[in-house]
Amino acid sequence: VKVENIRNISIIAHVDAGKSTLSDRLLEITGALKKNSGKTQVLDTLTVEKERGITVKANCVSLLYHYKNETYLINITDTPGHIDFSNEVARSLTIASSGAVLLIDANHGIQAQTLANYSMAVSKNLKIIPVINKIDLKNANPEKVTEDLLMMLNIDPDDVLKISAKLGTGVEEVLHHVIEKIPHPQADRSTSLFRAHLIDSHYDRYRGALNLMFIKDGEISLDQEIQSYETGKTYTVRSLSILTPDEVKANKLKAGQIGLIGCNMRNSKDAIIGDTYFLKHTTIEPLQAFKKLQPLVFAGIYPQDNSQHLALKNAIEKLVLNDSCVTVSPDTSPALGHGFRLGFLGLLHMEVFSQRLEQEHDSTPIITAPNVTYKIKIKDIKGILSKYNGKNIIEVSNPKHFPNPLDVEEYFEPTVIATIITPQPYLGQIISLCVEKRGIQQTSVNLDNDRILLKYILPLNEVILDFHDHVKSLSSGFASFDYEENEYVSSNLVKLEILLNSVPVDELSMICHPRNVELRARELAAKLKELIPRQMVEIRIQACVANKVIARETIKAFRKDVTQWLYGGDVTRRKKLLKQQAEGKKKMRMIANIHVPRDTFIKVLKR
Ligand code: GDP
Ligand code: MG
Repeated sequence: VKVENIRNISIIAHVDAGKSTLSDRLLEITGALKKNSGKTQVLDTLTVEKERGITVKANCVSLLYHYKNETYLINITDTPGHIDFSNEVARSLTIASSGAVLLIDANHGIQAQTLANYSMAVSKNLKIIPVINKIDLKNANPEKVTEDLLMMLNIDPDDVLKISAKLGTGVEEVLHHVIEKIPHPQADRSTSLFRAHLIDSHYDRYRGALNLMFIKDGEISLDQEIQSYETGKTYTVRSLSILTPDEVKANKLKAGQIGLIGCNMRNSKDAIIGDTYFLKHTTIEPLQAFKKLQPLVFAGIYPQDNSQHLALKNAIEKLVLNDSCVTVSPDTSPALGHGFRLGFLGLLHMEVFSQRLEQEHDSTPIITAPNVTYKIKIKDIKGILSKYNGKNIIEVSNPKHFPNPLDVEEYFEPTVIATIITPQPYLGQIISLCVEKRGIQQTSVNLDNDRILLKYILPLNEVILDFHDHVKSLSSGFASFDYEENEYVSSNLVKLEILLNSVPVDELSMICHPRNVELRARELAAKLKELIPRQMVEIRIQACVANKVIARETIKAFRKDVTQWLYGGDVTRRKKLLKQQAEGKKKMRMIANIHVPRDTFIKVLKR
């Protein structure tokens, strides 16, 4: 297929708008997927995606489509809708796409993420095809959504397609618009100077890192030698393939195409998203580098026991290859030993990462409570400053590094600018939520007769945990929420310490605002009581601020033998119970001489 007949696009939208379902239909139309195969969301290949029903990785597929006596190659990237995975969207919009299909749910209308995605696509100069999905639904009101698109984004109603991805209605027309309206990639086949842009990478046990690349110029064949612009390292091309979505081998990839290149890359740090690859011994201009998003929340990650430290390190490295905005640095903890401190875009991102470690890399580490990074100004007094290596401002994202409050001059915490779109009936509750979370209203605009757009400045630590879930549940799913980073502001902070049988456990401690600390303390203590199983000894849970106990709970001691009530002496049943108990213990970690289940650290944070 010639360059003029190639289209590289991304499908973008808020969560549940039907991106993955539309991708399924496109695969069917082009014959890549059999009709009525019963398979859904085929591009969601990861176990975690199937289990949670959400897309977390931007996945690319190459399709052939015949239109007006011509054959077109359409490379489609299905992207995630949740804000925690916006690095994936940024990546696919920046590196290979020349256009985007923007989906809007006919039932829910324009959402906060729709605006965020739209402006991201516009900022990359991408051609946008607006598509209203789910017109089959009873309450769908595509005309109203079309009006909103005109009003809010100045989108011409004549350009708006109306489809049902589920039933297939209007889906072919999406392809026609893609072909007619989206420009073909800027790619040059006449040159001998091969250049390719690294889009994504994943680890393959046998072949090392497999790199998804957009071939910008020239062509590449098996056995040729390529070089990375960023690292200078060279590799021999061992395998070439395109994704249909199954891997199909190729001998050659040409400018305009997107394909996988296997070159026995063993060190996963060498695959840098946005890097330029070229033929060894040639001189080229590098392609635009990709600025990945910076993590906002940080958590400790530790092996279940220290013998698994190296295995965990390897697993993390392999997974980070496929999730490039996660940052990793070594860390140690008195209770949990040697581990790592990882940075994520949010709590969901962190949970998905942990689940993927387990499902794809067979690693079941302990992850501690996430924290944002605070900036703390130390009193400008010699004896005090020297305790902090003479640093005037320290950055703290780990409660164990929280300074003595007497040494502190001023606290600063990161904030975000949040956009919330809500139907009128939920406005009161949404505003109360924002106030409870220490939000400061910036604007409130009526979008139309029944919907309001709010902008709030909110502390990041109040939004990372469950703010999104709250917005959704308060509004029966109709309000939507998105945020962007904002500056640090002066604040007040305390360290909420958790003690188990009088032993402080930093891994369960957290930094919070004094206004919420009592509520948080009670919630934490109660939640721990629920999560930690009864044991041989009584367990006292105390939540303290500045050595003052502000909440407490007790877990009563257990009887010696779980099976002793099973009189009648059914031996097999008795054995089975003891075995279950022993296996349960394997999933625990000894902290302060208490068995604590491995997922306690994250579960305590959820209501
Ligand atoms: P994504 O998060 O944007 O990828 O959305 P999905 O493709 O995973 O779809 C979310 C839900 O909406 C699924 O339950 C789909 O079956 C459903 N859905 C998608 N498209 C349509 C449609 O056109 N009509 C109806 N009624 N439901 C749809
Ligand atoms: Mg999806």
